[in-house]
Amino acid sequence: MKFFNSMTRRKEEFVPIEEGQVKMYCCGPTVYNLIHVGNARPMIVFDVLRRYLEYRGYQVAFVQNFTDVDDKVIRKANEEGVDYAEIAARYIKEYYIDAHGLGVRDADIHPKATENMDQILAMVSTLVEKGYAYSVGGDVYYRTEKFPRYGCLSHQPLEDLQAGARIDVNDEKESPTDFALWKGAKPGEPAWDSPWGPGRPGWHIECSAMSGRYLGKTIDIHCGGQDLIFPHHENEVAQSEAANGCKFVNYWMHNAFLNIDNSKMSKSLGNFFTVREAAETYGYESLRFFMLSAHYRSPLNYSRDSLLQAQAALERLYTAVENLEFLVQNGENRGMDNWETDFTASFQPYRERFIQAMDDDLNTADAIGVLFELVRAVNTGMSEHKPSRLAAKLSLNMIFEFANILGLLFRKKEKNIDQKIEDMIETRQEARKNKDFQKADQIRDELKAMGILLEDTKQGVKWKRV
Ligand code: AMP
Ligand code: ZN
Repeated sequence: MKFFNSMTRRKEEFVPIEEGQVKMYCCGPTVYNLIHVGNARPMIVFDVLRRYLEYRGYQVAFVQNFTDVDDKVIRKANEEGVDYAEIAARYIKEYYIDAHGLGVRDADIHPKATENMDQILAMVSTLVEKGYAYSVGGDVYYRTEKFPRYGCLSHQPLEDLQAGARIDVNDEKESPTDFALWKGAKPGEPAWDSPWGPGRPGWHIECSAMSGRYLGKTIDIHCGGQDLIFPHHENEVAQSEAANGCKFVNYWMHNAFLNIDNSKMSKSLGNFFTVREAAETYGYESLRFFMLSAHYRSPLNYSRDSLLQAQAALERLYTAVENLEFLVQNGENRGMDNWETDFTASFQPYRERFIQAMDDDLNTADAIGVLFELVRAVNTGMSEHKPSRLAAKLSLNMIFEFANILGLLFRKKEKNIDQKIEDMIETRQEARKNKDFQKADQIRDELKAMGILLEDTKQGVKWKRV
């Protein structure tokens, strides 16, 4: 199994630190808004990486943080006149709705910056003690010149970075590349006590502290979008390696951008669609399929056409699955004949090619190609013979073996969920009739957390997935 390592810029054979185990950290969202389609790319890609590692027999410990206090969260809170924690809590809830809609599994741990202040402060103190950081007027900065490898991940010599860095007039930093580990509190901002006065952590230090706390000083994989290479991940390397005195990460993996009209989709450019609105138009699963239809290190352009294509391709898969499910119920109830034994044995080369594609730096585009070839062969086979239930079942299993790795075809399982939703709505109606509005609201919130929106109409309650 080979992955492209941004640190060495080569595809490298994957060898975990401990046999059979993988420690993986993915930078999570800053929670001040609904996530956009670009943010969904790393979520989906690295969810597939995790699933594939598990398929190959590894036990994966997967950590993804929430940045729940920073400038953007605070700005949003001030705009609304509410506490920053309320903004963070609201958008963490919204994150889960989208993540679950996209079939992205929860991480084993989703730590928050504000819940790791002791670890963050301890790390900043260590850096100060070792001379890698200095305090100026309530702020603490990392001294980049003290870390000779600074620039190693983004492959830029420190002199070039210094020449390119902006120098503010009132800058109190020793060097323009130095970055904040701790920011002294400004009036009205949330603050925590520290040896340098009240303040809050810089963005980069939280990931170093949380990765170290939950996964250990050296981890196997650290991932995120390519815009995180510099400065975020570069700074993480500098902080962690200086504080801990050992290698931080063995494999750095970064996805390419999701573009729109060939420029990066981003909040600051304003050229974004939220995952929520894209899902309303095309469905969450079409978004997932679309993301996986390209290699994760290739730029991908978001367009109506490509989303419609993804939707259509997904429908072809669902049709094949429904036909097979019908045959599993209604096919001939007998053992497999010779043709069927040969046919089901012919699945093995597909499996090998699927694994080959995924082993080659997670080539989901080729893997999806193999899945479609398999589906075509199964469609042809089933229509040319009168299949047994067993042959249909084995074909279905093979399709789901691939689909589960890619996290596709999960809508099937939703049939039972639909019933559960109907039941919950009925209970809510009962509660309303009995004027138990607290219970009714609680059920509405639970449904919302499942990604279900209710609409009270004259004809009764309607619901939809968002
Ligand atoms: P942010 O909230 O901006 O820190 O982004 C959260 C995650 O989304 C990070 O891993 C980013 O690298 C990633 N990301 C943001 N915009 C895009 C994009 N247009 N394409 C791919 N990944 C992105
Ligand atoms: Zn991070």
